[in-house]
Amino acid sequence: MLLPRDMEPKAPPPQSQQLVIRIKVPDGGDVDWSIPPGSQLLFRDVLDVIGQVLPDTTTTAFEYEDEDGDRITVRSDEEMKAMLSYYYTTVTEQQVNGVMIEPLQIYPRACKPPGKRNIHGLKVNTRAGSSNNSCPAVTEGLPNNSLKKSSAELKKILANGQMNEQDIQYRDILGHGNGGTVYKAYHVPSGKILAVKVILLDITVELQKQIMSELEILYKCDSSYIIGFYGAFFVENRISICTEFMDGGSLDVYRKIPEHVLGRISVAVVKGLTYLWSLKILHRDVKPSNMLVNTRGQVKLCDFGVSTQLVNSIAKTYVGTNAYMALALGRFPYPQVLRPGEVLNEVPLQLLQCIVDEDPPVLPVGVFSEPFVHFITQCMRKLSTERPAPEELMVHPFIVQYNDKNTEVVSMWVCRMLEEWRSQQGIQ
Ligand code: ATP
Ligand code: MG
Repeated sequence: MLLPRDMEPKAPPPQSQQLVIRIKVPDGGDVDWSIPPGSQLLFRDVLDVIGQVLPDTTTTAFEYEDEDGDRITVRSDEEMKAMLSYYYTTVTEQQVNGVMIEPLQIYPRACKPPGKRNIHGLKVNTRAGSSNNSCPAVTEGLPNNSLKKSSAELKKILANGQMNEQDIQYRDILGHGNGGTVYKAYHVPSGKILAVKVILLDITVELQKQIMSELEILYKCDSSYIIGFYGAFFVENRISICTEFMDGGSLDVYRKIPEHVLGRISVAVVKGLTYLWSLKILHRDVKPSNMLVNTRGQVKLCDFGVSTQLVNSIAKTYVGTNAYMALALGRFPYPQVLRPGEVLNEVPLQLLQCIVDEDPPVLPVGVFSEPFVHFITQCMRKLSTERPAPEELMVHPFIVQYNDKNTEVVSMWVCRMLEEWRSQQGIQ
C-alpha cells in the first residue's frame, strides 16, 4: 500500500514496529536511533539528537537519499513528513518482498566545527545542566523536551506548551522599528514578562513555514550575551517573535555613555558576536537599538538575521536609514552629513557617500583612553580584511581591561539613568 505524501505531520508512524534512524557520521561511526511506534517525531527532535551525536558541529539540516540515490535536504517538519512518507513506502515494499527492513539513513549537514574561531570554547548546549558526555537519549526514545534549553525560565515557559496568541496579553509599546512594533507583554501560563516583536508580512504560507524553520536555530542559542528566545508564531499576516524582556531597553536611548560603562558593554558585544560566529550566524545589524541592557547589568544582542527569508521579507517594506549615534560622543559620528535641524531619514545617500569617501571617524585622543581610541579605530577600518574578527578583539587591551565580570557597573548606571528619566517625567 502506498502512503500519501501529504500525510499529516502529527499522524503516528504507520509501521507497527519501532522506527530506526541511522545517523550517518562523517568518520563512519554511524549511530542508530530507535523511536518507539506511534511517537510524534519533529524536525527539531532530530536536530537535537544529531546535536548530541555530533556535539562539536552545528547542524541545521540533514539529508536522506531517494530511490535514485539523490540527496534530499530536510529543514522543516513539512520536509520531515515527506521523508517519512517516502521511507514508509520503501518499508512497505521491503515487507512485501520479505527482505530485511533497512533503517532510515540520514546524513547530517555538517558545518565546520567552531575550532580556532571560537576561542572561548563555546558550544551549542542542547543538554542543559549536564556535564555528562554520554547521550543515552541517542539510542532510545525521543530526546527529552525539558533538556532542550538551559535557561530555567525558558524551560518553565516551554513546559506550558508552545507560544501562542491566546496566552499573551499585550501591554505597552516598547518601540517601533523599520519592520514592526515591539510590545511588552504578559505570558499568562508562565506569569512571565516578554518582549514581543510583531511584524506584518504579506507573504505566502510557504514562506511563513520557511521563516519558522529558519528561526529554529534560535532555540539553540544559549549565551548570556544573546537575548533569550521563547518562540514565534504566525497569526494571519503577522509574525510575533517572543523574547526575553530587558528592563533597561536599548542603548540608542542612552545617547552619551561613559567610557568605563562602554568598556563593559563592548566586552558583552564582542562575546555575543563571538558566540554567534561559533553558530555560523552573522549579525548583520549591529547597532545601539539592537543592544539591550537590564537593571541586573546584563548586555545582550538582539535582531540578528538568522532567517534570510524574514530579512528579505522585511527589506521589501524598509523605509528608514541606518544612521545612529556614536555612544561615546553622544552625537552623530559624521557631523558633516547631519546639520542641525536635519532628519536622519533625509540623508541616507549623503551618509553612504561620506562613508565611502571620507576617512573613518576617530575618537579624540586625550578625551578617551589610548586603548579605547585604538579599539574604535580598529573596528572602523574600511577594509574588511584589516578589521579584526570578534575573537581577535577579545585580546585587545581595551576588552581585556574591562573583561572583569563586573556587572555592577552597568547595573548601577542603568538604574541611575532610569531613575533620572522617571524623575524628569515626574517634573514635567
Ligand atoms: P530596526 O527595525 O531597524 O531594527 P529598531 O531596532 O529600533 O530598528 P525594533 O527592533 O523593532 O527596532 O525595536 C524597537 C524598540 O523596541 C527598540 O529600540 C528597543 O527600545 C525596544 N526593544 C526591542 N526588543 C526589546 C526587548 N527584548 N526588551 C526591551 N525592549 C526591547
Ligand atoms: Mg531592533
